[in-house]
Amino acid sequence: MNRRNFIKTGVLGAMFAASPVSISALDSATRAAAPSGRLNLSFRPYELRLRHAFNLARSQRTTTPGVQVQIEYDGLIGYGEASMPPYLGENVESVCNFLNSLDLGQFTDPFRIEDIHEYLEQTAPDNRAAKASVDIALHDLTGKIMGQPWYKIWGLNPEKTPNTSFTISYDADPEEMRRKVEETTPFKVVKVKMGLNHDRETVEALRRHTDVPICVDANQGWNNKEEALEMCHWLAERNCLFVEQPMDKTAIDDTAWLRERSPLPIIADEFLQRLPDVRRAAGAYDGINIKLMKSTGMHEAYQMAVLARALGMKVMLGCMTETSCAVSAASQLAPMVDYADLDGNLLIANDIFDGMKIVEGKVTIPDRPGIGVVPLA
Ligand code: MG
Repeated sequence: MNRRNFIKTGVLGAMFAASPVSISALDSATRAAAPSGRLNLSFRPYELRLRHAFNLARSQRTTTPGVQVQIEYDGLIGYGEASMPPYLGENVESVCNFLNSLDLGQFTDPFRIEDIHEYLEQTAPDNRAAKASVDIALHDLTGKIMGQPWYKIWGLNPEKTPNTSFTISYDADPEEMRRKVEETTPFKVVKVKMGLNHDRETVEALRRHTDVPICVDANQGWNNKEEALEMCHWLAERNCLFVEQPMDKTAIDDTAWLRERSPLPIIADEFLQRLPDVRRAAGAYDGINIKLMKSTGMHEAYQMAVLARALGMKVMLGCMTETSCAVSAASQLAPMVDYADLDGNLLIANDIFDGMKIVEGKVTIPDRPGIGVVPLA
């Protein structure tokens, strides 16, 4: 059964209507397909429910739209995922439209990842999360065919993964804040979102309960470079590790000014999406935050990490709110990076995969082929 027939049967229609649908339903639908020697793409929307509402500098939300993807080839299934936080401009409709417009059946060799990426780029610009979902599924599939996880294929040492940070948001209620901090106990690093009206209160509240290093993400929330610099000094005195995206992504001169003077490294997040952006970031930022949903997946994320290191920049590996599928895919790169922020799967209440684990705070890559995930029944 090819993709279009799959849609015609109404299975996908039912999946669009129902929420959430067990991935095993899609699994059996895909497995029913006869081995074809061609890539067979299927997908379904899957809304991620957040365990706690996210308070960001410019918004608050309780769910994140997502799309789950499978590519079947000769009886093997590669899993992929698109996660679409609203500020990146993609949504369920745009991702499904993009995936619907693809004809992966023209490819008979899943190892032609470079060719398939060229095809994705020719199909439509942007659509980075949609492209990432295909890329992740291809990496999972090809890793399974080789019988090896991608960190091994890349020649990386899984012992060299960093600790991950775990994001905590401010709560004015001291008891609730204490409870939130308690939840971070297994983690060796915590991350706080800033650029709100209570930046110092957040750090002070945290420091009443814990002395673990803090990563700061201002999410473009600071408007004034002098105040930003003062804040960087204040944070450096309180065992903070770095500041991510302190000012607006277009304020590159102010960010370069801040970077020259800041005692803490300045990391680019919203400023940077893909490989050509790494060179633009050099000079204004000390490091880059790579996320698969920005980079169009693992293929370009690896290239970004290599380039950033060659430029002497720090590398951070982040994620969106994602299931263990995309987070485990990202974890394959973790031995290459200085900082990891891979808590996306821990922030959702409805994960549908087993994969990467945090063991005593450290990113621990699953020792399974591909991206290392198993669907939960
Ligand atoms: Mg960020």
